[in-house]
Amino acid sequence: MKDLKEFVRDIPDFPKEGVVYKDISPLLQDPEAMHRAVELFLEKLDGIKIDKVIGIEARGFFFATLLAEKLNAGFIPLRKPGKLPYKTIKEEYALEYGTDSLEIHEDAFERGEKILIHDDVLATGGTALAACKLVERMGGEIAQCDFLVELEFLNGREKLKGYQIESLLKY
Ligand code: AMP
Repeated sequence: MKDLKEFVRDIPDFPKEGVVYKDISPLLQDPEAMHRAVELFLEKLDGIKIDKVIGIEARGFFFATLLAEKLNAGFIPLRKPGKLPYKTIKEEYALEYGTDSLEIHEDAFERGEKILIHDDVLATGGTALAACKLVERMGGEIAQCDFLVELEFLNGREKLKGYQIESLLKY
């Protein structure tokens, strides 16, 4: 089959000028490509036991759910403020201008559970680091963070030093 990179399309100047957006829609539209991506993620995990898979809103949800099902693990959404219906715990993080935050349900997992964090793209690493901090504050153990796409020139991996980071497609 075609290289998985052929299923990721560059959209220049989206959502704002100067950003090259990595659009994974073509990959999601192709069942064989999705299947291959899931297989590769499972290989990267190399049998590590995972209790819960966290997907970061919104494009992290797709593969986080697929992986959770394959791993016989639960799925947990990490969402933008105000979206989750039950009691939440919040982690704020810095953006280029201002701050953003992520929320999780306070009963999403038990202390000591092994957590896989997943998102579509690793850019500067700020989002994934906030996710890691939130999980650790709640007593979770980060087993791995995985991403479909890694923008290596933004050094997100450096920000996430100390965590096991895996990505399928590096740019
Ligand atoms: P960062 O916190 O800088 O690592 O940004 C990661 C988050 O922003 C992820 O949730 C991505 O979905 C999104 N993101 C950042 N840069 C891009 C990009 N070039 N293409 C698509 N999504 C991106």
